[in-house]
Amino acid sequence: MARYTAAVCRLCRRSGDKLFLKGDKCITKCTLEKRPKPPGPQPNRRRRLSDRGMQLREKQKVRYTYGLLERQFRRFFAEAERQAGITGDNLIVLLERRLDNVVYRLGFADSRPQARQLVQHGHFMVNGRRTDVPSFIVKEGAVLGWTEASRKSEYFKISADGIASKMVPGWLSLDRQQMVGRVLGLPTPGDIEAKFDASSVVEYYSR
Ligand code: SF4
Repeated sequence: MARYTAAVCRLCRRSGDKLFLKGDKCITKCTLEKRPKPPGPQPNRRRRLSDRGMQLREKQKVRYTYGLLERQFRRFFAEAERQAGITGDNLIVLLERRLDNVVYRLGFADSRPQARQLVQHGHFMVNGRRTDVPSFIVKEGAVLGWTEASRKSEYFKISADGIASKMVPGWLSLDRQQMVGRVLGLPTPGDIEAKFDASSVVEYYSR
């Protein structure tokens, strides 16, 4: 599956917001704080963004945050539109339910890109079945654990040592002894500390 491979801090600088794509470095040594201007040649005057430009920027922020390419993102948006309710909320909830995001939210990885890689390398089981698809959508009641082989790895030991300090959102629970997570219920838009305006994403695609 194709993915963005260039320097991810450029995405934050382009969005003008911290998207937390690099784990601990985002807290301790954030590039955006040192270089807040967008990447590339600097214009002499700062351009005012049009409404369309603002909507595009918001859409890109969501897309970058969850690490999706445009085509994958459009698929999620189409699914969110098909569901009953508010499309913007549906979209964010669907993205939160991605397996790579759940691995990140449970504290098994420091960032979503790292979680995605761990999933792709087959370190996790959902309901007892090895699952290596980052876009897999978890359901209510799903149990997420490490495979037996992964439990012997060095990374697992490091992750287990650091798990005590990790915070887990209310829609998930984590057994820190067993390193097993459970989906207690589906997330609601209120559970997600979203830094973006999902309605702008809907407006962007409504044209
Ligand atoms: Fe974004 Fe993290 Fe890079 Fe800061 S360190 S610019 S939050 S990816």
